[in-house]
Amino acid sequence: MQLYNDYRVKSFWLEQSGASYSESPALEGMLRADVLIVGGGLTGISTAYHLKKANPGMRVAVLEADVVGSGGSGRNAGIVNTQFGLSLGFTARRFGAANALAAHRYMERAVDYAGELVRAHALKCAWEPSGFLRVATTPAYALRIQREVALAHALGIAGIEWIGAVEARALVDSPTYLGAWREPRGALVNPVEFVRELKRIAVGMGVEVYERSPVTNLEFTAPARAQTPHGAVEADRLVLATNAFTAQFELLQSRQAPVHTSIVLTEPLNAAQLARIGWRGRQGIGDARNLAHYYRLTPDNRLLAGGGDVRYFRGNQTRVEPYPASIMHLQGFIAETFPALHGLRITHRWGVPTSATLDTVPHIGAIGDGSRIVYSVGSMGRGTALATLSGLTISHMIAGAGAQETPPFFVNRRAVPLPPEPLRAPLAHGILGLMRAQDAYRERQGLGAPRQR
Ligand SMILES: Cc1cc2nc3c(=O)[nH]c(=O)nc-3n(C[C@H](O)[C@H](O)[C@H](O)COP(=O)(O)OP(=O)(O)OC[C@H]3O[C@@H](n4cnc5c(N)ncnc54)[C@H](O)[C@@H]3O)c2cc1C
Repeated sequence: MQLYNDYRVKSFWLEQSGASYSESPALEGMLRADVLIVGGGLTGISTAYHLKKANPGMRVAVLEADVVGSGGSGRNAGIVNTQFGLSLGFTARRFGAANALAAHRYMERAVDYAGELVRAHALKCAWEPSGFLRVATTPAYALRIQREVALAHALGIAGIEWIGAVEARALVDSPTYLGAWREPRGALVNPVEFVRELKRIAVGMGVEVYERSPVTNLEFTAPARAQTPHGAVEADRLVLATNAFTAQFELLQSRQAPVHTSIVLTEPLNAAQLARIGWRGRQGIGDARNLAHYYRLTPDNRLLAGGGDVRYFRGNQTRVEPYPASIMHLQGFIAETFPALHGLRITHRWGVPTSATLDTVPHIGAIGDGSRIVYSVGSMGRGTALATLSGLTISHMIAGAGAQETPPFFVNRRAVPLPPEPLRAPLAHGILGLMRAQDAYRERQGLGAPRQR
């Protein structure tokens, strides 16, 4: 995989924390561990924290190729919400109503649990429990969201409501809004601080974290063996927490594909600019597209916007340069959504790979006997709450304590395999092309009128 000498250029969050972060040492020499975790993102760090918490005597080591939070966990938008897979409706159609409900309940718990961790350990990560809005910007999207809300209610999910255009625009004033899914459960966070604060707690409990220690060779033997440039680890159990970077392990090639989206960030909004758009509740916002846009205010009132354009690059590339077409798309999106902010300067742009499965649903799985080697992929663009709770779920699998609670349906499920190249690229481009075409169709006017309250 590609390594970056200066990880601070990879996101605003990483740039901000650059000077104050003291890296853990790289692995030097041979180490024997009970559990080796490959990947120092939120999934890996949360798994390490939970393993150590439940088993203080266990030797738990994390190997991170770059620095903690340098993958998706430190370069995402920091919007914490209950969204799972593509949509509630899609999950219900593909996996059944009971599983869609169970997935939503898991995500509700994940959002609450992330907040509990922040409070329990006083994590300094700019956590703002400001809720979530999924806005409708065309009549067809309004219908789509209304159906999603109706399905949620039919499944017995409370705490989500459809609000009409007037109410939505009273919360955040964009002329594009026709209504919204409003959900008070949801938060904003500084994602780098969140994962690094959790690392601090885990290290304090005795977890060993080695940064700038990429695994260059991995043997799935018993014990498992991992090689780094200056050291090696032998471990009885292994967790692969590499999400979008998992394609490097041939055994897991078929499970996921890395897909890229980009983020742009503006200069801080001044008081007059903020007054023009309202947004006093500072909610995280997404829209109803397949290739959704998502946006928020940062603690210093910059507008962060991401998504809208998703790409796969042939050969499972995990390169991280922001993709110019995606950046252009986002700039146009900001102009259209907030014309009252005309002239706002873009200060940061970055791109990130995340992991997608063929059916858009996350996948935690075991290789072999169910507790020796566990992997986590397919978090899509929704990993902050998910990865936090997945760490607990994975720790139960690894410690053989899975019987304590019924694992969610996406654990050890039979996933539809993704073909290898050269078939993978045309398939990925075809699926993304279809999603894009469906979005374009829904963005034509006159496809059905929204019901206003
Ligand atoms: C643009 C974008 C915006 C997003 N916004 C949001 C959002 O607002 N809210 C939300 O909930 N989710 C969001 N997500 C999704 C979220 O970022 C991910 O789901 C989450 O960070 C996944 O965490 P992870 O720990 O599984 O993976 P990662 O954070 O990617 O961690 C994997 C780690 O493995 C390391 N690694 C790879 N190979 C090796 C190796 N050989 N040896 C050692 N280490 C290795 C990498 O360096 C990396 O640090 C977004 C994703 C993208 C792409």
